[in-house]
Order: sequence, then C-alpha cells, then structure tokens
Amino acid sequence: MIPTQQSENIYYALEKICQSQRIFLWEIAKIEGFSPIQIQFIEFIHKMPMDQCTVSHLAKEFDLTKATVSDSIRVLVKKGFLEKTVDKEDKRRVYLLLSQKAKSKMALIDDKSHSLIQIIDTFDEEQKKNFSQFLMELIKKLYDHGYIQTARMCLTCNNMIRNHQEGNPFYCQFANIPMTENQLKVNCQYYSV
Ligand code: SF4
Repeated sequence: MIPTQQSENIYYALEKICQSQRIFLWEIAKIEGFSPIQIQFIEFIHKMPMDQCTVSHLAKEFDLTKATVSDSIRVLVKKGFLEKTVDKEDKRRVYLLLSQKAKSKMALIDDKSHSLIQIIDTFDEEQKKNFSQFLMELIKKLYDHGYIQTARMCLTCNNMIRNHQEGNPFYCQFANIPMTENQLKVNCQYYSV
C-alpha cells in the first residue's frame, strides 16, 4: 500500500521535531561537557523514583545495551554528577542518585525543556488534544510492534483500566482516580508493566 501524503508529512515532521530536540540537548552538552544521552540519563534519574534508577532500567528506557549505559554512567560518576547506593536488602541492586553538582545543573536543563514546552503551549487546546492523542496511539503501536522497549504512558500501563465509566473512560489504579482522554499521561513516574 502506498502511504498517503499526510502519513509522509507526519513522518518527516516527527523527524524534524526530533532534530530540534537533539539541537536542544547538544546546546546543553556543549556548555556542560555532557553527551546528549548523559543529559537524558540525568533528567530520567531526576524525575523517576529511586527503584527505577538502575543501569538495567536506563538500558530498557533508552533502548541501549547495559554495557553502553554502564560506560556513560561511569563517566558521570567520575565527573561527580552521579552517586551510587546499594540496596539494603539486595546487595546486587545498585541505584543511581544525582549529586549536588548535578542537581545544580537541573535548572539549566529544565529551562531549555520549558522553552520547548512554551512553544507547544501557544497552540490551542483542541489542537494539542488531538495531537497528543495521535502521538500516544502512535507510541502504543510502536510499542506493540516491538520497535521500542518501553512506553511510559497510561495507554500501556498495568495500572490503567479502560472502559471505566461514561465520561471517565479510564481509571488509574495507582492514583485511584478516573480519567478522561485529556488526562492521560506520557512519561509517568508511576508507570507499571
Ligand atoms: S500510573 Fe501513571 S501511567 Fe499508569 S495509569 Fe496511572 S497515571 Fe497512567
């Protein structure tokens, strides 16, 4: 089947958006001496609960090998941006924490992502709602087809019940709240598989 012009437009538009994200990451990388993926690791560790801040979780989240993640983490630890702590009950589990030095960089990283979010925020709510739903469905399809290992969002989360009730078709069992389509989340720290 020949893809429609709209499908091609969306593909190339998403590529362009990814490019702008890479530029944003490289700007910080140049200033701070990180690589773009190291910035993403720092952001992830900053936002996620400690039990998810392990090399295995990072490898899965970013679709990388554990060896690649370990190399990057070693550099971040050496530069004093990350610290390690061992699980009290299972000595084989090592969690990654941000050092004070890394926390002091978060304002810069947040500022940059906020400027992208502010541009997105200039669009009207209906446009954002439709686009957000489209993107979530697209990510779900990529996840279902095995193109990505994780999709940290309501549509693929074990805590989500569908067809909950009229008006609130979704229900989050973690937060015990009914949800509308507008309230579905991407990048939720309580996501469960
Ligand atoms: S835990 Fe987070 S991702 Fe999962 S259903 Fe609730 S809000 Fe959605």
